[in-house]
Amino acid sequence: MKVFKFGGASVKDAASIKNVAGILSQFANEQVLVVVSAMGKMTNLMENLVHAYFYNNNNTSSILAEIRQFHYQILQELDDSSKMQLYNDVDNLLLELECMVENPNNLEDYDFVYDQIVCFGELLSTRIVSNYLVTQQTRNQWIDARNFIITDNCYRDGKIDWAKTEHIIANRLRPVAEKSLVITQGFIGRDSVNATTTLGREGSDYSAAVFAYCLNAESVTIWKDVAGVMNADPRKFPFATLIPELTYNDSIELAYYGASVIHPKTIQPLRAKNIPLFVRSFMDMDAAGTVVSNTAKSLDVACYIHKAPQVLFELSSRDFNFIVEDTLRGIFAMLAENKMRCGIMQNSAISFSFVTDVSETRIAKIKGQFENAGLNCKITEGVELLTVYNGVLAQTEKLTAGKQIYMQQSTGNTVHFVLG
Ligand code: ADP
Ligand code: ASP
Ligand code: MG
Repeated sequence: MKVFKFGGASVKDAASIKNVAGILSQFANEQVLVVVSAMGKMTNLMENLVHAYFYNNNNTSSILAEIRQFHYQILQELDDSSKMQLYNDVDNLLLELECMVENPNNLEDYDFVYDQIVCFGELLSTRIVSNYLVTQQTRNQWIDARNFIITDNCYRDGKIDWAKTEHIIANRLRPVAEKSLVITQGFIGRDSVNATTTLGREGSDYSAAVFAYCLNAESVTIWKDVAGVMNADPRKFPFATLIPELTYNDSIELAYYGASVIHPKTIQPLRAKNIPLFVRSFMDMDAAGTVVSNTAKSLDVACYIHKAPQVLFELSSRDFNFIVEDTLRGIFAMLAENKMRCGIMQNSAISFSFVTDVSETRIAKIKGQFENAGLNCKITEGVELLTVYNGVLAQTEKLTAGKQIYMQQSTGNTVHFVLG
């Protein structure tokens, strides 16, 4: 069995969905489970809706209208003969979402509310893809991923309950996927009280890997708008070239430091069962793309990873106490509690610095917590994290020229810069 994942860019409009149907038609004789993300930038719009709902700022109806309009536009373009068979499920989901947002209950935990709302992006996209395939005579089974991806209740950052997930996928989903093409959602799961959870932004690649692990799939293919994994993001570095093969090790390092073409959590389940990962272009079916596997040769090019914007935290001890094990334990506990991750970090006798992703709600909160714990906390927004993996220092001079270097770290074959 193969697992495919189509991300937002591959289903961003009607023409793209037709293209996905064309790709799937080439695998008509194989067992395939397809994981689909929300369409285009829909998750960002859902995030706006969560914000408007949570803070009661009266924008919910205009955002809901935009969400409805976006999906309707696609339906109209797909259903050019107006057979209307595409609309039912989508209408029901939109209605459910509208009712949810009219209800002022449940407004205690932002992350919980976030997951209950944002999941609609994936539910809508998969209904549209699945129903469109039916109109094209491609029989398929729409599956609610939340019945199979079982997580803890860490909203917005759900951790997979592997025992339960593996059991239910092997026993319940596998027989279905052996008989029919399956269309399901990435990014979403369910906890033990049946609330929706999400796996973190861009988490659909990871969902595909979880399904593949539990199904003992022969491979995972993530279909992207680029030729495969390149040695830099081609949108930012025009010199980027394709890396035809990558080891699990190299790919996990690249993804971890911000090569956003693969979600960092994707590799671990695949490596555990030696399942190869293909990263291929949905625009060019003839191109081989990149294969990540245990037989790949090690990287022979330098890779450039640019992550921006980032936020630099510089903590220092207010009373000249050393920042040692106890203080660090406190700092990491606060980071974990706020679901924040350090990009890179550096410490001295009385200071500790790190970079992290931008988060409107978390940064101010954790700053207060650090200050309450007796630390000075300086925040610099808008910095960039540049990582050169498998390179040498000399190759980085051009990239850092004219920029302020806040932090520089060199370990083995990797150099990191925090630049302003
Ligand atoms: P999806 O549609 O699955 O969400 P993403 O947008 O998350 O796809 O990933 C594809 C994008 O990743 C590309 O458009 C490219 O700009 C970016 N990218 C970042 N780093 C790399 C890299 N090293 N190689 C290829 N693409 C990269
Ligand atoms: N739709 C989600 C997001 O945009 C998950 C994904 O696309 O992988 O973050
Ligand atoms: Mg994405």
